[in-house]
Amino acid sequence: LPKRIDELPARIAQRHPTALALIENHRHLSYADLRDAIDTMAQQLRLMGVQENDRIMVINENCIALIVLMLAITRLNAWPLPVNARLTSAEIDRIRAHANPLLSIYTLEASPSAQQHAQHDHAQPLDCVAVDIGALAFTKASLNPRSLDNPLRLHEALPGPQNPHTDASQQCAALLYTTGTTGAPKGVMLSHHNLLFIAAVSSTLRRVTASDVVYAVLPISHVYGLASVCLGTLFAGASLRLAPRFSPESVCDALAHESITILQGVPAMHAKLIEYAQTHPERWHAPQLRFVYSGGAPLDLTLKRRAEAFYGMPLHNGYGMTESSPTIAQTRLDLPPADTSVGPPIPGIQVRIVGLDGALLKNGKVGELWVQGPNVMLGYYRDPLATQNTITKGWLKTGDLARQDENHALHIVGRCTELIIRAGFNVYPAEIEQVLNSHPDVMHSAVVGRPLASDEEIIAFIELKPGLHATPQTFANWCAARLAPYKQPAEIHLLEALPTAPSGKILKRALQQRFTDGN
Ligand code: ATP
Ligand code: MG
Repeated sequence: LPKRIDELPARIAQRHPTALALIENHRHLSYADLRDAIDTMAQQLRLMGVQENDRIMVINENCIALIVLMLAITRLNAWPLPVNARLTSAEIDRIRAHANPLLSIYTLEASPSAQQHAQHDHAQPLDCVAVDIGALAFTKASLNPRSLDNPLRLHEALPGPQNPHTDASQQCAALLYTTGTTGAPKGVMLSHHNLLFIAAVSSTLRRVTASDVVYAVLPISHVYGLASVCLGTLFAGASLRLAPRFSPESVCDALAHESITILQGVPAMHAKLIEYAQTHPERWHAPQLRFVYSGGAPLDLTLKRRAEAFYGMPLHNGYGMTESSPTIAQTRLDLPPADTSVGPPIPGIQVRIVGLDGALLKNGKVGELWVQGPNVMLGYYRDPLATQNTITKGWLKTGDLARQDENHALHIVGRCTELIIRAGFNVYPAEIEQVLNSHPDVMHSAVVGRPLASDEEIIAFIELKPGLHATPQTFANWCAARLAPYKQPAEIHLLEALPTAPSGKILKRALQQRFTDGN
């Protein structure tokens, strides 16, 4: 088995050199092409002065160049730091100031947003030798003291074996910033071992084979897209169809014409895709699709049932976080649950449910979920205190409330910090969101707490399905008939669109800011 993520393509190419690895519009790369592209790119980066443990930022949307770059950077024992081009310049600058990368590289061809950032940052074209992976540009750091004007001489720059003393279980193979749902994004250091463990588990539990074609629209700059989708596919020798952005139209096109067998998304993507396909039934044709999966955010029962009726197969659910590479639990092919559980913990890890006082909870009680295993991060970059607060004696405290049922399946109840204390009662936003989402006019919803002097108020935000015009009163009545009085939202706001991260996750922090800024 490989020890490093940059060895994955060569491992498949050894036996199946012509097998198709990556597809992006009209560009196709076989496993042998991908292996060679990584070697060439690694050599080029080395000539540019990249050394061990340098951070290299890649401002991207999903494309072949991104994967080649990431694996080539790890080949040099430098750290790829993929950043979604749909973030604003200010957001990117904050990450850049924290990570202090030697280079920033922009994937121009796949991403108009990356082009804009390149222009804004006065990036220069990066001429790629020998491989056609699409146009790139780069800037070098003004903060980073090391000069790039003095590249190594050519004979020193041949792509030799990586440092044999490097321990792949300790070497950072990706620096990924969290979504920033609850606060400022944190830089998570994941090792080769972390990522390979999840790649292996993902492809095994889904029974991915060389004949699978996986639709990769989840951003590879997020751990879910990187480990579960991209590396899981390369681990199995299957083909990865890269899509820079989600749109229901392009998913429908790919499913109809490109033999896609596996579709992974966040719940909001499935909601939008199904809404579109049901109103454009002539566009829906998915002859090869065999596995659909939701993860990264709570899945509610209404959407799950609707999706399963629509796809004609189970909608699998998985749970994890950047700090655990990401997968912690995932539903099983042979036992698809009828409820919204996230399935049992993946093989090879341990979990605990812990009370506020740190005591172990049993018998299906709700508490904080702790995780131990090969998927737990190396730590937060440049934040030892946060690392210490999050990992205790090898246990990662997820910050999520969960319970485990008699079949070992985990049920995620919500985040510890999002728990609303209303009139002395615990209110879980997910319960109210579930009720709102069950209304036929609702696309999706988000519920947050607004602090009062000695209490909290429940505020709900709703995005309606396209073309519908229900009023907040409709939903107030809907809730009144279905929820106890202390769970009723004090306010219901209808928004054109809920604010989302590039991965499609709803950003509750942005919603909370609406009223903290307003007051
Ligand atoms: P930040 O840590 O910066 O606030 P974030 O926690 O949203 O952002 P991620 O690492 O992308 O950053 O997300 C992990 C979180 O997403 C988990 O802690 C959990 O709250 C939520 N989550 C992921 N998958 C699921 C799921 N299937 N069901 C419910 N919640 C989920
Ligand atoms: Mg988090």
